[in-house]
Amino acid sequence: MNRSSQVKRHVSHVRSYFSYCPRCAGRLEWRQPRIEAPYQRCTACGYSMFNNPIGATEAIIIRNGKMLVMRRTRQPRKGYWDSPGGFMDGFETPEHGVIREVREETGLTFKPKRLIGVYVNDQYRYHDRNVPVIVVTFLGSASGRLKHTEEASAYAWRPLRSIRHMAFRYQLKVIRDVRRLP
Ligand SMILES: [Zn+2]
Repeated sequence: MNRSSQVKRHVSHVRSYFSYCPRCAGRLEWRQPRIEAPYQRCTACGYSMFNNPIGATEAIIIRNGKMLVMRRTRQPRKGYWDSPGGFMDGFETPEHGVIREVREETGLTFKPKRLIGVYVNDQYRYHDRNVPVIVVTFLGSASGRLKHTEEASAYAWRPLRSIRHMAFRYQLKVIRDVRRLP
């Protein structure tokens, strides 16, 4: 993809993010740096709103060759199979974030064993835009009893090779990467 189509694609993602400065309600203008992505800047106070990714975590939990998946009860991608995980809070570490999310969503105690990778989720729809999300994905073990929570309408253990669809396409890459782990 060339530079100008990259910029266009990015702008179409971020266009109509915000109408006013969240700090002073001043007028926003688009800025186009030479190399970085375009961003909005307040003409009154100078506050800049960069389109940086939001940090999230994901847990791949495998027991007897089967991976834990849960059916989403919320948008985006409500009704799709997902793995436990979610957005990080403030300054918590990815390890703390993933342990907290697994506990919230499944009642299980997650122990991250290894980092599978860091992925980009470009399909997270929030209001009228795709929010850029960067996902730190761990493989680990989980102890305790699976507890049903309002985060999922169903839970299932699935053989990795049988998983064809997940809520977000990057997750199929995660599964391929897990299957290739030595
Ligand atoms: Zn402002």
